[in-house]
Amino acid sequence: MNKIGIYIHVPFCGVKCPYCDFYSTSYNLKNAEKYTESVIRDIQNLPDLYADTVYFGGGTPSLLPTDFIEQILWALKKNINLVCPEITIEINPCTVNKQKLEKYHDMGINRLSFGVQSAIDSELKLLGRKHTFESSSEIINTACKIGFKNISCDLMIGLPGQTAENLLYSIDKLAGLPIQHISSYILKIEENTPFNCSGIINKMPDDDYVSDLYLIMVKELQNYGFFQYEISNFSRSGFESKHNLKYWKCMEYVGIGPAAHSYYDNKRFFITPDLNKYINSPEPEITVTDYNPGQTDERIMLGLRLTDGINVNDFPDLKAKLIKKACLLESNGLVKIDNDIISLTPEGFLLSNSIINEFI
Ligand code: SF4
Repeated sequence: MNKIGIYIHVPFCGVKCPYCDFYSTSYNLKNAEKYTESVIRDIQNLPDLYADTVYFGGGTPSLLPTDFIEQILWALKKNINLVCPEITIEINPCTVNKQKLEKYHDMGINRLSFGVQSAIDSELKLLGRKHTFESSSEIINTACKIGFKNISCDLMIGLPGQTAENLLYSIDKLAGLPIQHISSYILKIEENTPFNCSGIINKMPDDDYVSDLYLIMVKELQNYGFFQYEISNFSRSGFESKHNLKYWKCMEYVGIGPAAHSYYDNKRFFITPDLNKYINSPEPEITVTDYNPGQTDERIMLGLRLTDGINVNDFPDLKAKLIKKACLLESNGLVKIDNDIISLTPEGFLLSNSIINEFI
């Protein structure tokens, strides 16, 4: 039985972070109510599906009142078949307290993803985050005491002025928390954001320095028992994100909410990123981006994001070409070949776009 993932995009943020270009809008209760009704409407229109992951992403899903999250989960339980689901919610640390976390636990949410970003408060301030590392630590320790056993934190690298010592300090502090997973993102300056200004750009580390930081991070996280399983993701054994693995393994998922993407029914498509349109239309407006997904190129491209890599026997027509290319890149330390499995090394991940282009 094919089990899909469900992604719910919650498009509200308290304050827009100056580096972020994700679709989100300011929060108000009236819009949150209408949004929740529209999400439930879309859930009721789903066909008879089996799903084993649910992911509340955003935006800031933890801004949504817990009753609304519960109503969405009820609608899912009522309308589709949830099979021992991994249920994740992304959390901005300054938007939750003990009571909220207890309610998440009671309603069956079993994975929390905290946007911690850094253990250094001056870096958090620069990023426009409203939490300190101490407040994040407190709430994560509270989550652990409540009984959450699968907690992830985000960590950002390549920040203006960030040194290797700063990064090692943040990793050390994160590793001291009761968490099982770390997602690490390299800061990029996006065009239509306040960070796209000379004051920030002039302080950005150059690419070579960011590459050094990345390799230091991979090694240090491994020393702490967080093993890399994807370009940007690290976990203790058995705590890989089941939901996100669906993206990289080319498995199906249905996205609900404005700006949510789907891979379902032999199509890739997204819902128009416009909350007003979403809550005022009888059904979501979608744009199809691919009528023939899951082809060879895409499977190679996504598979090579994972440390498990690709099995050349899954691509019989390309097997000889893949092995030949891999042998060339192996001598540069960018690729590993283990029997019929080809995977990228951490050095290879840094050049993943050009290496993947060579393979496809
Ligand atoms: S909270 Fe997350 S989604 Fe919202 S603006 Fe900040 S980074 Fe972007």
